[in-house]
Amino acid sequence: MKELIKLIIIDADCTIWSHHNASSLIPPFKLLSKDLIEDRYGSKIKLNGRFREFLEFSRDNGIILSIASWNQPENVLELLSMFSIIHYFAFPTIEPHPNKSHMIQKIVSNLRKKGIRIYPEEILYIDDRDIHLKEVRDTFEYVSFIKYGSDVENWQEVIDMVKNVNV
Ligand SMILES: [Mg+2]
Repeated sequence: MKELIKLIIIDADCTIWSHHNASSLIPPFKLLSKDLIEDRYGSKIKLNGRFREFLEFSRDNGIILSIASWNQPENVLELLSMFSIIHYFAFPTIEPHPNKSHMIQKIVSNLRKKGIRIYPEEILYIDDRDIHLKEVRDTFEYVSFIKYGSDVENWQEVIDMVKNVNV
């Protein structure tokens, strides 16, 4: 990462929250505490460490946030609403296929329709898996990437990395 980051695109499962597959959860969901939800059968979904601080940091620094998630959209949207964080994201793109470069293209194109032009070197993509990275970089050669859980252990470390770039 060396360019100014203007758009951060985030995976959901194992990146925003601890659960590995939101599509497998069964509603209704219950908010147990600010950062913890459980589904009908007691499966727990916990926001990962300092994610709320990361959201506030991004908002305060004018960084646009979005989501590219391989899931059925209903559960992910419901969880984001219940955690009261859905309003932080522009064009959250949650689709039942693994083609993240297609989702990222959609996000960039939706932003452009709003008059916001984002260049690939201004995009940071964060995911706990790097299986999508090659395909993303075939489309957006200069996209920066952070592997959540491996390059960083929590969202404070993301804040620190973005601060280092956007000085
Ligand atoms: Mg994931």
